[in-house]
Amino acid sequence: MSPSHQLPKNYDIEEVERRWQSIWRDEDNYFDTSSPAPRFIIDTPPPYPTGNFHIGNALNWCYIDFIARYKRMRGYNVMFPQGWDCHGLPTEVKVEETHGITKNDVSREKFREMCHDLTIGNIEKMRATMRRLGFSIDWSHEYITMLPEYYRKTQVSFLRMLKAGDIYQSEHPVNFCTRCETAIAFAEVNYVPRNTRLNYFDFDGIEIATTRPELLAACVAVAVHPEDERYTGLRGKKLSVPIFGHEVPVIEDPAVDPSFGSGAVMVCTFGDKTDVYWWKEHNLELRKAIDRNGVMTGIAGPYAGMSSEACREAILADMERTGILKRQEEIEQRVGTCWRCKTPIEILSERQWFVRVHHDEILEAARKISWIPEHMFTRMENWVRSMEWDWCISRQRIFATPIPVWFCTTCGEIVLPAEEELPIDPTIDKPRHPCPNCGGNEFVGEKDVLDTWMDSSISVLHVTGWDGSAEKPPFFPAQIRPQGHDIIRTWAFYTILRAKALVGSHPWEQILINGMVLGEDGFKMSKSRNNIISPEIVIEQYGADAFRQWGAAGAATGSDIMFNWNDVIAASRFQTKLWNIFRFVMGHLEKGADPAAPVSELSDRWLLVRLSGTVADVTAAMEGYQFDRALRAIREFTWNTLADDYIEIVKGRLYGDDEKGRASACNALRTTMDVLLRLLAPIIPHFSEECYHTLTGRSVHKETWPEFEYTDEDAQRKGDLLVKTVAELRRYKHDRGMALNAPLGHVIAYAPEPLEDAGDAGRALVANLEWVTGTPQLEEVVTGVEFNMAVIGPTLRGRARGFMEAVKTLPPEVLKNPPAAIMVDGEEVAVPPDAFTPKVTYRVAGEDVDVLTLGDLVVTIGQKP
Ligand SMILES: [Zn+2]
Ligand SMILES: [Zn+2]
Repeated sequence: MSPSHQLPKNYDIEEVERRWQSIWRDEDNYFDTSSPAPRFIIDTPPPYPTGNFHIGNALNWCYIDFIARYKRMRGYNVMFPQGWDCHGLPTEVKVEETHGITKNDVSREKFREMCHDLTIGNIEKMRATMRRLGFSIDWSHEYITMLPEYYRKTQVSFLRMLKAGDIYQSEHPVNFCTRCETAIAFAEVNYVPRNTRLNYFDFDGIEIATTRPELLAACVAVAVHPEDERYTGLRGKKLSVPIFGHEVPVIEDPAVDPSFGSGAVMVCTFGDKTDVYWWKEHNLELRKAIDRNGVMTGIAGPYAGMSSEACREAILADMERTGILKRQEEIEQRVGTCWRCKTPIEILSERQWFVRVHHDEILEAARKISWIPEHMFTRMENWVRSMEWDWCISRQRIFATPIPVWFCTTCGEIVLPAEEELPIDPTIDKPRHPCPNCGGNEFVGEKDVLDTWMDSSISVLHVTGWDGSAEKPPFFPAQIRPQGHDIIRTWAFYTILRAKALVGSHPWEQILINGMVLGEDGFKMSKSRNNIISPEIVIEQYGADAFRQWGAAGAATGSDIMFNWNDVIAASRFQTKLWNIFRFVMGHLEKGADPAAPVSELSDRWLLVRLSGTVADVTAAMEGYQFDRALRAIREFTWNTLADDYIEIVKGRLYGDDEKGRASACNALRTTMDVLLRLLAPIIPHFSEECYHTLTGRSVHKETWPEFEYTDEDAQRKGDLLVKTVAELRRYKHDRGMALNAPLGHVIAYAPEPLEDAGDAGRALVANLEWVTGTPQLEEVVTGVEFNMAVIGPTLRGRARGFMEAVKTLPPEVLKNPPAAIMVDGEEVAVPPDAFTPKVTYRVAGEDVDVLTLGDLVVTIGQKP
């Protein structure tokens, strides 16, 4: 290919990407609140500011950026905001580690300040990675949940739901992590298999099996199945709890499994969720044996002050000593653990704040959203249906949005601030008015803080312009929520719940679920597996555009995607190929061709037909967020149609001196590059900008999406024939060991209809090629015979040689229609079927030719150059 004089031979990824990133202006991506254009609002996930924008984030943001850029080109007024979900335990832990303190060593204010500073620094690092990846984020719509302007809204949302009765305070069993010293929500409990011992012991005369003997002090009943005949005599009786001696009732409940152990189970407050169910159902007493720190309480008598593990061992030893421990067996059990620190959770009854879960309302709203892929809705549905408890939103931590309430110390009344007073910290600020109930002036502020999902679940309200009122925000609902499938039961669920509760409707029109990124070994990326790949490492070697292509090509949206260097290398190779094509095209355009000249020649029109089909495919794929399909269609067009087929055919005409033919090809190529670069703009924004700017002097990101339609059935049909003919004849050369530029002599292509190719095929093949209609007048000449030894050997054995000699003497017309038998050495020998075939050559008008048959096209190739 002849290079353009203006363009460097090699595409310098680093230089080009950095240059455009410094030229592009943030303002170009701002959402225009006054625009009459249709809106497209994205409820972008606010990542947790760890300081590390990991590859899973990067994949999700690639998808979001493809969508944002595509929609802008389609004329939408796009909002691609960026939030930061700051609060929570990981930052507290990091601060404790960094400063070598625990949260109780400094004041709450000082501790919050340390968390704040760490978070700001981390956000700055992550912003840098996002910019380097070329994401077209609207930075004028950035929000940071720990800042007053945001958490004011979280507090407003709390007060509104409290007043509406959707938030309440209650003493209720909750999942509690004694390591983190806080309540957590069900969505934050992970169930993992653990090996443990099942201990069978004598419980006042009946056998009971338990995995948690340390809860014996918290035993409040023994439960049996109502139809279990072994225990009919115990109905209404009381039993004495071993070691502790308190009396508990025998209750009957159909939820008891009579086939497990002895069929009798002890009910404790609380071993698991079933205990909670029985406790409520049968109005049992509450005995708290374990406190918030995982330490045995006073009711554990001699075991008080021990950790629960130490207590377990001590009780088992005492059971053994007193002879009531019968036997033990190893079992595997599913244990609920803290999502953050993996400590087994306890179920503790605590005063906490809860959000009421209205299952049907949430499902109804979830159904109004279109889920992509569709089956992800089932995950939401299953989660909602499995929820038995309300959402516990209070946390016993510090770095979080304060719960804006006080308690009157005189009468206990809950005292609320006016919405105009928000944001407040009730541990610092005081109510502005006396207690409305008793007139008292002494208050104590709520020390509990809110679950961080309380902040992030109003992201959609925030970005759509919510002012805290019950009115629908001006830009509500958002058009799309992109997020990972790992947070369907948290972020997606909570957002739907809150949107429904606060403004009465579903939050988005669509939700697009992306998969997780797995390491090259197929496993989840983790430090311990040493399979973590950071976006920075990929960008350093291959650039942001190659990374973005990897994201697009990896998998259908919703599927997990395995990281693979080969995909990145293929992406980079595609850019090199496209750069070479682009330089070739620019070289010819620079030589000058009338841009108004018509695209008149067959192969040029054929190229535009193919381009038009590609635009339709890519557009449909982008509409359905099938980025892998979109990129595949673009790559196939570029490699196969444009490079392998078209350019090989048209090259000769471009270098030639027929002005009309050159201008037709140049204009077809100009249109093709213009359209192709616009199709690529959402996926590889730097590369397409570099080329498009060279081609047109304008920014591709201010252009519209190509609506290129070109139909020409004649060109499509005949162009396919032309392309196939050239491809087959190139293979013909290859098969005969000829160089591709070796001359081919006199070639006649017999087509079903007249075909005018402007001499393209002949030049491409270095042949004197004529297109004619009709069929060739072929003269068949038998020049010899070919024997099939696999037939002759076994059937004729010793006579084979004589048979073959005899066949060779047969005249050509007999060879073509062999007789049933021939004479061999004076004897008649039957001719076995398929024993030989005549060797035939063809002649046209006395010239020896090779014949290729390609469907309804026949090509003859003259043997004399
Ligand atoms: Zn924990
Ligand atoms: Zn009061």
